[in-house]
Amino acid sequence: MYEFSFFVTQYKVNMTSLYLLLGGNIGEKQKIFSKVWTSLNLKIGKIASQSAIYETEPWGFESPDLFWNQVLELSTNLSPEEVLAQTQQIETELGRIRKENQYSSRLIDIDILFYGNQIINQENLTVPHPRIQERKFALVPLCEIAPELLHPVLRKSMRQLLVESTDPLKVEKVTNFPEAHS
Ligand code: AMP
Repeated sequence: MYEFSFFVTQYKVNMTSLYLLLGGNIGEKQKIFSKVWTSLNLKIGKIASQSAIYETEPWGFESPDLFWNQVLELSTNLSPEEVLAQTQQIETELGRIRKENQYSSRLIDIDILFYGNQIINQENLTVPHPRIQERKFALVPLCEIAPELLHPVLRKSMRQLLVESTDPLKVEKVTNFPEAHS
């Protein structure tokens, strides 16, 4: 009995709060987002909270196809590298083809915004995601579900970062959309 409770305690201690940003501007967005929620729940961890879906103007390039963006908080026991491997596998399974141009239309993009309060600077992984503070399409949904979350590098809350944002691009809630199941 003692060993079992110890195991349960250890298991809980190892869970980390992970914030992901979903984005996509082509294809059947509703179907794609639903599939992503299912895959994330299965492969990375339970979705603990989710923002609304926002319709947003493309950032860094021109396109008539508006994006859908959403921030999800998950509870995970995977390492940051394992999370990245899983998110990239989900993107590929859903048909994403990586283009040379970083800013282009895409079926689905999954960015790791925060992994607990860890700061990671590796060749293939930077956490917190380096452009959160420049992008209203990340800050608006983050503020909806975690306004007081502190950016571990900038030492400012999401609310502060949004107030200071100069990003002029449109970010509007999509109404009448089902919730991510957990
Ligand atoms: P993207 O085209 O926006 O999906 O960029 C993916 C590339 O960014 C991959 O090569 C990742 O290894 C790298 N990357 C670095 N930091 C992150 C992060 N925080 N979240 C997702 N991808 C990241």
